[in-house]
Amino acid sequence: MNLFGTEYYRHCQPASKNRNFMPKILIVEDTENNRVLISRRLKPMGYEVLLAEDAERGLPLAEAERPDLILMDVGLPGMDGWTATRRLKANAATSNIPVIALTAHAMEGDRIRAMEAGCDDYETKPINFAQLQDKIHRLISNPQPPAATG
Ligand code: CA
Repeated sequence: MNLFGTEYYRHCQPASKNRNFMPKILIVEDTENNRVLISRRLKPMGYEVLLAEDAERGLPLAEAERPDLILMDVGLPGMDGWTATRRLKANAATSNIPVIALTAHAMEGDRIRAMEAGCDDYETKPINFAQLQDKIHRLISNPQPPAATG
């Protein structure tokens, strides 16, 4: 499927036997290898993954799909990830979606920029996936429990 010219993947395996809720994560990342790597790591964790190769595609996709969380590479061609995050946070349709910035360097400047742009957290590359999963867990709001269970 192709939506807004982005690669668009749906992962059909349920997150668990007990519920159908699959948090949806949008990855905005221009480097194809990184998109593939990150989505391959997130899908087995039970996340549905949406991919966009730049902010110009990612912003409308975020508005249309309302993902549960966005992983935003900050170094993007065209609009950078900081600007894209500010736009997401300024748009009522997307302002409540948590954003984790993916930065290239563990620099204090990036931490400050991430906070200033309105990012909810940030992760430096190369990504530590155990750590990233903890951050995602913390930020994704608790799913609605299935009705009439125990
Ligand atoms: Ca990049």
